[in-house]
Amino acid sequence: MEFNFSKTWFSVKCPKCFYSFDIQTFDIINESVVYCNNCKCQIEIINEDASGSRAKKQIENSIKDLNNTLKNLFK
Ligand SMILES: [Zn+2]
Repeated sequence: MEFNFSKTWFSVKCPKCFYSFDIQTFDIINESVVYCNNCKCQIEIINEDASGSRAKKQIENSIKDLNNTLKNLFK
């Protein structure tokens, strides 16, 4: 059985207005960021759920890459 990872839903909670809504891992992988449906602020995805661990890893890797890029800029 193939697990359709991109269609996995999980809920996030806005750290600013505490509004809860569901997002798809597909959205994270493609856009790297999500925005609160209520106050439109940018939300950092922290998903402890096992089904989202791969998405989290990808986000962490992209953040690492960004950090490395920034480090190189300020060498
Ligand atoms: Zn919000």
